[in-house]
Amino acid sequence: MSTAIVLLGLCLLAVTLCYLARCLVAPWGTCTRCRPGGKNRTCRACSGTGMRPRIGWQLYTYARRLHRDGTR
Ligand SMILES: [Zn+2]
Repeated sequence: MSTAIVLLGLCLLAVTLCYLARCLVAPWGTCTRCRPGGKNRTCRACSGTGMRPRIGWQLYTYARRLHRDGTR
């Protein structure tokens, strides 16, 4: 039973590391709201750029901002 939990933890760790690596390699993903038609100037989600930061990247910038404000 404990082996299964360890294996599950390892899988979660691997998935998390892969996602973090992907966020580091390409922090900007395509906008999901206006992706079919390419750039859309009226898209409010990406303000017309067609690119959106990934959730992981947003969390990273949020944590970095918190750390910067906290240590100042
Ligand atoms: Zn968009």
